[in-house]
Amino acid sequence: MTIIDRILCRPCIFCVIADGSTPTRLIYKDDEIAAFNDINPAAETHILIVPIDHVKSVKTMTTDHIPLLEKMHQKGIDLLKERGHDPEQSRLGFHVPPFNTVDHLHLHVVGGVMKSNFRKLKYETGRMWYMDLTQLQATLDKKRRLQEGARL
Ligand SMILES: [Zn+2]
Ligand SMILES: [Zn+2]
Repeated sequence: MTIIDRILCRPCIFCVIADGSTPTRLIYKDDEIAAFNDINPAAETHILIVPIDHVKSVKTMTTDHIPLLEKMHQKGIDLLKERGHDPEQSRLGFHVPPFNTVDHLHLHVVGGVMKSNFRKLKYETGRMWYMDLTQLQATLDKKRRLQEGARL
């Protein structure tokens, strides 16, 4: 959350959900991540996985976040398998600002039949608005190299 949000007591909805302080049922929770169903599912299975600590978006991340991202991704794969979906046929990804809806990093875990063609597009990796883990890692690596280059 930003300082302004804290001062104005504007709670981040995903921070509150991950904390378990809303009626939203958590599918999974540990010290670092929480998972819950998307309120407006795009497919048969549509889960969101968030870090418990507030991370704004893919834009504010660094390579230090990669282990956390990998953990979120692995949990997404486990949850898809538990639900009978083939992870290879599923859509795991992150929306890139300004195409994200909530300013708290969330991994979409979308499996099974999509509810509409528009939704297919919204959760299609390789688009400028939706990145999978591999693309995000590449972006973070590139950002680090640029920063290291700038320091030389
Ligand atoms: Zn938050
Ligand atoms: Zn999103």
